[in-house]
Amino acid sequence: MQNLDNGSGLGKQSFHDLMAQAPVAISVLRGYDMVIESANSMMLDVWGKTPDIINRPLMEGLPELKGQPYINFLHDVYTTGKPHYGYEAKVLLVRNGVGERCYFNFVYQPITEPDDRVSGIMVVAMEVTQQVIARIKMEDAEERLRLATEATGLGTWDLDLQSGNIIHSPRLAEIFGRNNRTVLRQAELNNIVHPADLDMVNKAFDDALTSGVYFFEARVIWPDGTIHWVRTTGKVIYDDNRVPLRMLGTIKDITEQKHMLDELLKSEESLRLATEAAELGTFDMDVVNHSLVWDHRCREMFGITNNDPVSYENTFLLGLHPDDRERTDAAVCQALNKKISNGDFNVDYRTIGVEDKKLRWVRAKGKVLFNEQDMPLRLIGAVLDITESKQNELKKNDFIAMASHELKTPLTSLKAYIQLLLLNARRIGDSFLVNALEKSDSQISKMTKLIHGFLDMSKLESGKLTLNKEVFDLTKLIEEIIGDSRPISQGHDIVFENRSVIKVNADREKIGQVISNFISNAIKYSPKSTSVVVELTSTDNSVKIAVKDNGIGIKEIDQQNIFQRFYRVENESTKGFSGFGIGLYLSAEIINLHSGKIGVYSKEGKGSTFYFTLPIV
Ligand code: ADP
Repeated sequence: MQNLDNGSGLGKQSFHDLMAQAPVAISVLRGYDMVIESANSMMLDVWGKTPDIINRPLMEGLPELKGQPYINFLHDVYTTGKPHYGYEAKVLLVRNGVGERCYFNFVYQPITEPDDRVSGIMVVAMEVTQQVIARIKMEDAEERLRLATEATGLGTWDLDLQSGNIIHSPRLAEIFGRNNRTVLRQAELNNIVHPADLDMVNKAFDDALTSGVYFFEARVIWPDGTIHWVRTTGKVIYDDNRVPLRMLGTIKDITEQKHMLDELLKSEESLRLATEAAELGTFDMDVVNHSLVWDHRCREMFGITNNDPVSYENTFLLGLHPDDRERTDAAVCQALNKKISNGDFNVDYRTIGVEDKKLRWVRAKGKVLFNEQDMPLRLIGAVLDITESKQNELKKNDFIAMASHELKTPLTSLKAYIQLLLLNARRIGDSFLVNALEKSDSQISKMTKLIHGFLDMSKLESGKLTLNKEVFDLTKLIEEIIGDSRPISQGHDIVFENRSVIKVNADREKIGQVISNFISNAIKYSPKSTSVVVELTSTDNSVKIAVKDNGIGIKEIDQQNIFQRFYRVENESTKGFSGFGIGLYLSAEIINLHSGKIGVYSKEGKGSTFYFTLPIV
């Protein structure tokens, strides 16, 4: 550029007027020091400065340029005479006292004198901060979207419907079994789809052109011959005349999902076959929506042959034997309370067939699903018709009850006769007879105890075992039982610890039976001359009685079962011990009737501690 006064055809004043009104920021800098000779108002606005910077060197007026490359660019222009262009150049400016990051397109144009000497520089700048920031934001958003789609394993594609060209992400090629640098064309994609799915895929494409929505799940064949499942979703973009222009969307490899679904369907089928084979019925109760679903076998157990809707109150509860209704309803309520039952549902009940009026015994087992707040959502489970085994069991119980009852009377008179004979033998001082009769008496006591056990068991099974509660001193009871046990103790030392007067309201005879059972087991299952310790402790609301021995101990697996009816541990260490496995079963039932707890701590070979608790009321 020539000197602004000469050759431009414009007077100095006209040039300044032009500069002042120009829609771009313009400034003229003079000399090597870049003294600001003039700057139009737009330039002053861009710089964020007042006109008093005119006639001062640039670095004085805009000290923030220190450390930025612009002053060097200006010096280069000044010395070389070559203009310098900047595109979206970042400049840090202090505008009206506030530091800002700005972007400019600009030119530094040298002003030359007639002798070609550069005397100044004209700066023309256009601020593009808004555009640059918008572009950076868009690039960021695109990058975020790219990362998100990559993280979810999605491939993306953009199909130009006019030209058939497709732009896709590297992931799409991978989903089709190709290297991620491969670029695929639309025509190729058709060859990759499994021939059996091709018609469906083409139809989905044609439908999408009218509906605007593209969706399919299909198999694709990879170059190595393996088959994979993909799911595509897309959207069509139309012009103003609804001519489809582009289709864009995502694609996902769903092979694993499909396999899992297949596995699930297979296992559902095997479960169905298994329940069918085991003659199990199934039920599913939605606690939140109060709905109930029964399969056909579950319906059979309630004597129902139709498929009409069923409900908890009107079908289930009304279908039960009236004597079992309350107990069964309580078992359901208990299962729904996670704290009490941990969601386990396990109950036997009788039903009276709705249509056939038949009485059936049913065993129901189930599990409750809870939400995070432990509120019950669903009770799901299975039912089994146990009528036949229940009837056999009832017959067996009747037989045991009858036999025990018949044995009781002769045994009582046998005991009376032996005691009479014992008195007589003692009187005449026949020590052999006394010894023999004492042994007989002790054997009869054992037999009587056993028979009472059987009688109690059959009473329990038929719900006739009742408690005769009274307030009594536990310590005294324990002392009495220890006294009675000494004659059969085979040299064991029975020690009573922590005795103190503790009164409870319970069935004295039955609690005595439990303690006696613990002590006789402790004697039975531990070597002679070892000690058996009975311990009585109490808290504010319960008492605990524990009987500890140094005997053979019990394996963990057996500990879970020994309180069940007829359960006996069968192994090398229990070989020589006889019994029926009903003592602990009865003890557990008696303690349960008292709302107490019963349990055992034991280690095989290291002795056992049996305990029970009773609430103090
Ligand atoms: P029984 O002693 O008549 O078999 P119980 O019901 O009293 O019946 O006991 C069940 C089983 O528990 C026993 O067969 C025995 O294996 C085991 N058991 C009970 N008490 C003890 C104990 N103190 N030490 C080791 N095992 C015991």
